[in-house]
Amino acid sequence: MEKQNLLYEGKAKKVYDTQDPGLLIVSYKDDATAFNGQKKGTIQGKGAINNQMSNLLMAALERQGVPTHLVRELNARETLVKRVSIVPLEVIVRNLAAGSFSARYGVEEGRAFDEPVLEFSYKNDGLGDPLLNDDHALALKLATREELALIRAYALKINQLLQKNWADRGIILVDFKVEFGRLADGTIVLADEISPDTCRLWDAQTREKLDKDRFRRDLGGVEEAYRQVMERLSSSL
Ligand code: UDP
Repeated sequence: MEKQNLLYEGKAKKVYDTQDPGLLIVSYKDDATAFNGQKKGTIQGKGAINNQMSNLLMAALERQGVPTHLVRELNARETLVKRVSIVPLEVIVRNLAAGSFSARYGVEEGRAFDEPVLEFSYKNDGLGDPLLNDDHALALKLATREELALIRAYALKINQLLQKNWADRGIILVDFKVEFGRLADGTIVLADEISPDTCRLWDAQTREKLDKDRFRRDLGGVEEAYRQVMERLSSSL
């Protein structure tokens, strides 16, 4: 399968169409942004790591009953995926307080929740991705009631499966963001990526941050952290 036209270039990925109208090629970049594009940089090797990590995790989720857009990895930084129309929701699941939750509600980072916290943001850079609830999403016609229920169920299942997967590798899944899309026939599938750009991952022993917060907060050792999580994920248990 060959790349044809560049359809879209985002902060971390480029998307191309192919000869097949139902298939797209995603190409992951080393570029990193934070705070809605205000902070920009490069994380050497990130594109290849995010591509391969996302594919490993999506393949595992697919085997466990979560439909995804993944078709097959083409090379180090490119993957063939099913064409979807993205549901404009950032679906966030949190196991421990961090980031915007800690800031908004005045809770120290690292406080564990009794149950996972699921939240939606409206995927809209112009508005700064505002937090919204189901009623807001319905009023804005971002998804139907049935789609919201399915997305919620998938997100919680993804959390269970990923939490276990990372725990087996000595890593705490603090929180993550996923996006879903609709295939041509309306089927909801997991799309976008799952990587240290979109998950908070802490070493279970030292609680050291092994994700994009190293870049956001200028903690140093960004490349090393991405390499380390990829290594732990690829090592057989
Ligand atoms: N996240 C993301 N893209 C976004 C916003 C958040 O991938 O545009 C991820 C982020 O990496 C973290 C989780 O979603 O794992 C929760 O992020 P939070 O709402 O705390 O926002 P942040 O502190 O990253 O602004």
